[in-house]
Amino acid sequence: MGPMSSQQRRTAVVTGASSGIGAATARALAAAGFRVVCAARRTDRIEALAQEIDGVAVACDVTDADSVAALAAGLPVVDVLVNNAGGAFDSEPIESTDPDQWGRTFDVNVVGLVRMTKALLPALRASGDALIVNMGSTAGRWAYPTGASYTAAKHGTKVVTETLRLELLGEPIRITEIAPGMVHTEEFSVVRFAGDQERADAVYAGVDQPLLAEDIADAVAWVATRPWHVNIDEMVIKPRAQAAFDKVHRSGA
Ligand code: NAP
Repeated sequence: MGPMSSQQRRTAVVTGASSGIGAATARALAAAGFRVVCAARRTDRIEALAQEIDGVAVACDVTDADSVAALAAGLPVVDVLVNNAGGAFDSEPIESTDPDQWGRTFDVNVVGLVRMTKALLPALRASGDALIVNMGSTAGRWAYPTGASYTAAKHGTKVVTETLRLELLGEPIRITEIAPGMVHTEEFSVVRFAGDQERADAVYAGVDQPLLAEDIADAVAWVATRPWHVNIDEMVIKPRAQAAFDKVHRSGA
């Protein structure tokens, strides 16, 4: 069978598709036969990716209601929504934390996901067999010192996912949370430490071997290709070298 036309291909929307896990997920879903709508703020990156995977690039800031509404307006039917856009923006004890960073963290990881889901629910319903995958984290399972802005937000991602599954019971929409542990992506730790590459590199130093973005993308593609009646509620995925947040096996350690 030759390549499917865009009429035949099912549509997947991936937020945060401009780097890391989102970009790998867009590639994996395209390889699984989906027409992928690559959404993020950096248009040069998503345009290049969309061209590579025969998908569509749509500039979208999940913290901006108009931007999300514009994306939704162009998509009458969506089969898979991957709410992947997110990140950590600080590493501070609560005593010295900047509450504005908490607002930013919640806006992307929790409210952004809610904004996207709300806007696309009519299109997901129209699919008749839809799936929402929310990118959580083991930070949504564990607390760790200096991590509270992010761990509190990712606990929020988990609870929003569980609430959606309860509220949408009986509808043709499956809901999954994927909660990765340490994934060595190009930007995640650099963003967290405000561009400090040395500090970012130290997170992964000596670890044999952190997860790769492709490992998580593989899990998303697997979830998205289960039969319609199979709901994978949640997947916690860690590298073999990580037993808990600060229990990481490092060579020479
Ligand atoms: P990353 O490389 O920093 O990618 C983050 C993505 O989110 C980028 O594509 C970024 O695109 C997008 N994004 C950020 N703010 C956005 C906004 N307001 N609107 C739209 N897109 C936005 O990080 P990653 O490691 O791939 O992480 C992806 C997801 O996995 C996040 O939810 C993260 O919390 C989660 N996660 C990561 C790890 C890890 O160890 N790396 C572990 C567990 C969970 P633009 O800047 O172009 O908008």
